Amino acid sequence: MCKYCLQCDWRINETGGYTESEASRLAIEHFVETGHAIDSLRLPPPVVLKN
Ligand SMILES: [Zn+2]
Repeated sequence: MCKYCLQCDWRINETGGYTESEASRLAIEHFVETGHAIDSLRLPPPVVLKN
């Protein structure tokens, strides 16, 4: 899960060492401080084999 700002270069992801809840809190703080909209991006799921 990666969270990123739609209006500036702010972003965080799991490789930064944040837990999901920490990442969510930081995203909310960025929104509160700047009014920027935050979106989240899930990494593509592993390839699913089809029948
Ligand atoms: Zn921003």
